[in-house]
Amino acid sequence: MVHGDDQGLKLPPKIAPIQVVLVPIYKTLEEKSKVMEVADRVFAELKAAGIRIKMDDREEVTPGFKYNDWEMRGVPLRIEVGPKDVEKGSVALARRDISGRTGKSFVPQTGLTQTVSLLLSEIHESMLKQATEYRDANIHDPKDYDELKEAVKEGWAFSWWCESEECEAKVKQDTKATTRVIPFDQPTGGGKCIVCGEKAEKKVYFARAY
Ligand SMILES: [Zn+2]
Repeated sequence: MVHGDDQGLKLPPKIAPIQVVLVPIYKTLEEKSKVMEVADRVFAELKAAGIRIKMDDREEVTPGFKYNDWEMRGVPLRIEVGPKDVEKGSVALARRDISGRTGKSFVPQTGLTQTVSLLLSEIHESMLKQATEYRDANIHDPKDYDELKEAVKEGWAFSWWCESEECEAKVKQDTKATTRVIPFDQPTGGGKCIVCGEKAEKKVYFARAY
């Protein structure tokens, strides 16, 4: 629910089928041979280290198109290798979880496997932290039905529910929200249904469908 933005999906590195996409950048044939030499080497090194890497060497689309394409699919990290990187012995790294210049860095080709491994861990931790903060900031414990209606406009409401279809249907009709998650570990003692006020055994999460 939280791993995404206007540019599409965001996948945490540990579950991403492709963790790193490598985009070689060149215009002339001369540039191509130099760039591909570095790109091939980087690809082989990272792959050998167990990093799930994909080389996007499509000729028919621009680098910009490739960036958007892989961002949309949620690949956590992009490596760019261009003629200047070949000269400087560097590569450019672009994080999917932090867009724009802030998420970009230029690092030496030497030790790249370790740099990338560490960065993938950092991205993973950072995404987990963000997801947890987002969840905590958006879960409400409404006092009454009116507060529930407010809560589900933006976030989640954690409320007692009598488990009747009528009450769920009413919430859905009034707010477009439905019961999303019924936690296995329930608070003891029970409570009163947030909708009808009857006895309730379960506390559940209400939210709108995404
Ligand atoms: Zn009820």
